[in-house]
Amino acid sequence: MIESAPLASGDALLIVDVQNDFCPGGALPIEEGDQVVAVINEWIQKFAGYDLPVFASRDWHPKNHLSFEPEGGRWPPHCIQDTTGAGFHKKLNLPETTVIVTKGVRFDQDQNSAFDQTGLGVHLKRKGIRRIFVAGLALDVCVLATAVDARHQGLEVVLIHNATRPVNARGGLEALAVMRTAGVLVLEYIEQKGDLK
Ligand SMILES: [Zn+2]
Repeated sequence: MIESAPLASGDALLIVDVQNDFCPGGALPIEEGDQVVAVINEWIQKFAGYDLPVFASRDWHPKNHLSFEPEGGRWPPHCIQDTTGAGFHKKLNLPETTVIVTKGVRFDQDQNSAFDQTGLGVHLKRKGIRRIFVAGLALDVCVLATAVDARHQGLEVVLIHNATRPVNARGGLEALAVMRTAGVLVLEYIEQKGDLK
């Protein structure tokens, strides 16, 4: 299926958790997680070319966060505040104007979605953003939660499918189905001729 999505005023790019710990060699590595970087960089350039905003979320946990296995959580310790693992992948070319969205800081609960108690939804509305393009890690966890929440916020959502990877393949397929049901447009093919209208 070929789908195009020309960029327009009111669009924003939201890059989810492209952090060292989620890439090969990190504390919670996602297979091929680093391979999203080059694709996302192309999208960053595309957005920058039209002066459209770029947002980047990051998982940013306190030490001993309750989502960590030693605390009874689901994940190995990862993305601990101010560590190298919590840093963005070094080849990710984030523009200086990138707005960072920090999540996972609460002691009492995890925040998979970049919209979960971050105020991002309100901010995007104030900035006139109506549609977001979502990419990043991991497809079946934080990207899924973010895309579905964005729909609940009334935003149009485009998933850049080749700019994301799942924790596991089955979870990835299920995530795509959930997103489609929620009204997310899954972009399977990038129409290079897409221009600002
Ligand atoms: Zn986390």
